[in-house]
Amino acid sequence: MNRLMADIKDGIKAMHRYQAGKSVEEVKREYGLNNIIKLASNENPLGPAPEVIAKIKSAAGEVCLYPDSDSRDLKLKLAEKYQLPVEKIFIGNGSDEILDLLMTLVLTEGSEVIQADPAFAKYELAVQSRGGKSIKIGVDQEYRHPLAAMKAAITEQTKVIFICNPNNPTGTTLARKAIIDFLTVIPDDILVVVDQAYQEYITAADYFDGVELLADYPNLFLMRTFSKAYGLAGMRIGYALGNSELIDYLNRLRGPFNVNRLAQQAAVQALTATDHLKKCLDLNKKEKNYLYNEFEKLELDYIKTEANFVMVDSTLPAAEVFIELQKRGIIIRPGSQFGMESWLRVSIGTREQNKLFLKNLAELLAERSS
Ligand SMILES: *Cc1c(COP(=O)(O)O)cnc(C)c1O
Repeated sequence: MNRLMADIKDGIKAMHRYQAGKSVEEVKREYGLNNIIKLASNENPLGPAPEVIAKIKSAAGEVCLYPDSDSRDLKLKLAEKYQLPVEKIFIGNGSDEILDLLMTLVLTEGSEVIQADPAFAKYELAVQSRGGKSIKIGVDQEYRHPLAAMKAAITEQTKVIFICNPNNPTGTTLARKAIIDFLTVIPDDILVVVDQAYQEYITAADYFDGVELLADYPNLFLMRTFSKAYGLAGMRIGYALGNSELIDYLNRLRGPFNVNRLAQQAAVQALTATDHLKKCLDLNKKEKNYLYNEFEKLELDYIKTEANFVMVDSTLPAAEVFIELQKRGIIIRPGSQFGMESWLRVSIGTREQNKLFLKNLAELLAERSS
C-alpha cells in the first residue's frame, strides 16, 4: 500500500481531525459521573418540537424505503418561506456536507479561500482537503469580520470568501449595510458564502438577511441549518440558498440520497412548529442576558453575542478550565482551540444548566485566586 498512501493529497495529510469535543457518554464513563451538562456544541437545550418528535416516531417504520432524492416537500416548504424558486434551494446532510461539496465544486489546486480568524473550524478543513489554501485574517477589535482587510487579501487565486454571520466562535455579526457594501465591491467571480447557521437567534435590529439580494448577486451563497434553532443537530440536515446554476452542479455532485428520510420529514415539520421555535429563541434571549449579568458580577469580560453561545474571558488558561469543568460534569469549548487562550465558548443552556456552569466557574476562579 506504500504508493497508495504516498499519493494521498498533501492537503489531506496536513489536516487535523475536527475536534468535536467529548460526547456526554464519554465524559460519563471517563469520570464516573451521572449528570453531564453539555454546553460545547451549541445544541438546542429544549430539543426539537414535540410535533417533530411525534413525526419522527410515526415515520420510523418507513426507513426501509430510500428517501426522496430531491427532498421535494422540504424544498417546496422553503420555497414558500423565502419566496424563491426551488432551483435556488439545495438541501444537504448538514451544512457541513454543503461546505464540502461546494469546495469540491469550485476549488482547484492552489485556490485561495479568505476567512476570518477565528471563524468556524470546518472551513479550513474543507478547503485543505481540496488542495486549497485558507487565508485567515484576524477579527477586528470588536471581534467582527475585518471586511476591508479581507477584501485587500483578494488575489488571482481567490475563489471563495467566507463570512460567518453570526460568527462562530465570537458570536458577532456585521451590520446589514456593511455586508451589502462588501458585496457591491467583490468581483462576481468570487463566491461570497454567508454562513447563517445562527440566523434565527439574531436580536440586533440592523441584521443581514440576504435572501432578497440573491437576485442581484449571483455570487452570493447563503447557508442555513436545522441543527441549532430547530434542535435537529443529530438528524444532519441543512440547506443553502443561491445561484441556480451552482446549485444544479451541487445536485450532480452530491450522493443521490444524501439527506435521510427522517431528517427530511422532521425538517418539514419543524418549519411549521413556530411556537416551539419562538420558545427556543425567547429562552436564548433571556438566558444570554442572565449570563451577561452574572459575568459582570464575576468581573469577567465577555463578547456580546447574536447566537446561542457566548465567549467569556475566564482569565485562566482555557485548556485547564476546560479539563476542570469536565471533571465536574460540564463540557464547554476552550478558546485555546482557536487562539483565544483564556476564553471559553459556552452554549447558552436552560437556567438550571447556566447556573451550574456559573457556579462551577465561580468556584474554580475562587480556588485559583486563593
Ligand atoms: C453549527 C454550525 C453549522 C451547522 O452545521 P450542520 O452541519 O448543519 O450541523 C454551520 N456553520 C457554523 C458556523 C456552525 O456553528
